[in-house]
Amino acid sequence: MSTLHINTPLIESLAIGRGVSSRVWLKLDALQPCGSFKARGVGHACQVHIDNGATSFVSSSGGNAGLAVAYSGRRLDVPVTVVVPLSTKKRAINLIEAEGAEVLVHGHDWAAAHAQAQLLARCGAVLIHPFDDPLLWSGHATVIDEIVQSGLRPEGIVLSVGGGGLLCGAVEGLLRNGLSDVPVLAVETEGAGSFATAYSAREHIGISGINSIATSLGANKVAERAFDLIEQHPISSHTVTDREAVAGCNRLLEEHRVMVEPACGASIAAVESGAAFFADKQDIVVIVCGGVGVTSQLLAEWQSI
Ligand SMILES: *Cc1c(COP(=O)(O)O)cnc(C)c1O
Repeated sequence: MSTLHINTPLIESLAIGRGVSSRVWLKLDALQPCGSFKARGVGHACQVHIDNGATSFVSSSGGNAGLAVAYSGRRLDVPVTVVVPLSTKKRAINLIEAEGAEVLVHGHDWAAAHAQAQLLARCGAVLIHPFDDPLLWSGHATVIDEIVQSGLRPEGIVLSVGGGGLLCGAVEGLLRNGLSDVPVLAVETEGAGSFATAYSAREHIGISGINSIATSLGANKVAERAFDLIEQHPISSHTVTDREAVAGCNRLLEEHRVMVEPACGASIAAVESGAAFFADKQDIVVIVCGGVGVTSQLLAEWQSI
């Protein structure tokens, strides 16, 4: 069977690359059918589980991961339940329901929703974790496969980090394409700096809370694998402010007419503020991870932060 994700465009961006010596390429995963790169890992995980006899899926994410599970369930003709906390926006619930999934509102935070999802999983549904699952990482790794297949040999990868699933997948993709020396700039907003915190402490610790509009980066603690990679792969940690992340969103919208969440705008912003990473590098690829949690109205509201 074909994959549930699409092969997304890889375009050179003179505009985003203005001011840095490298050539800057954008891998436009905002164009995935469910709006983010999550289609890759979640789609892959769901397909493998179906091959192994799964008959239903459950997710604990009211964000892009939950939407990707709902999308995958629809494509694979398998029922999906998404457990989301009370704080989840009506718009997110509508998007998940539009994919045909059942939304169950439970608890005040992600941990409570996740615990409920784990209970459902005990009754036979397969739980798809939003970031901490090797199957997910293998699927995310296809983003690097596609870059290499296009004929480009990147000398640096810029990506956003929430729980670190995309980071783990990108590194897996680099390794399986013989690019183990290609460094990764791991970008977060300051108020969602769980990777930055573990990175500077050289200890697998988390943060006590999320204080950022980049809600898709809001994991209190990154996956253990993401932490372990610090010692195994050239990775630099970089944070931007919420304001810079929003400016990144605006810049992408103005220059390329693509609208993304601040979680993704952070990586666009990092091209400017993380320029030291690009010194002496020819071609760098920014993974435009996307996200559906944005509208022109939200973007306008965020101008005042
Ligand atoms: C999930 C997500 C992230 C963070 O990905 P992780 O795999 O959790 O690190 C970043 N941006 C967007 C738009 C996302 O959906």
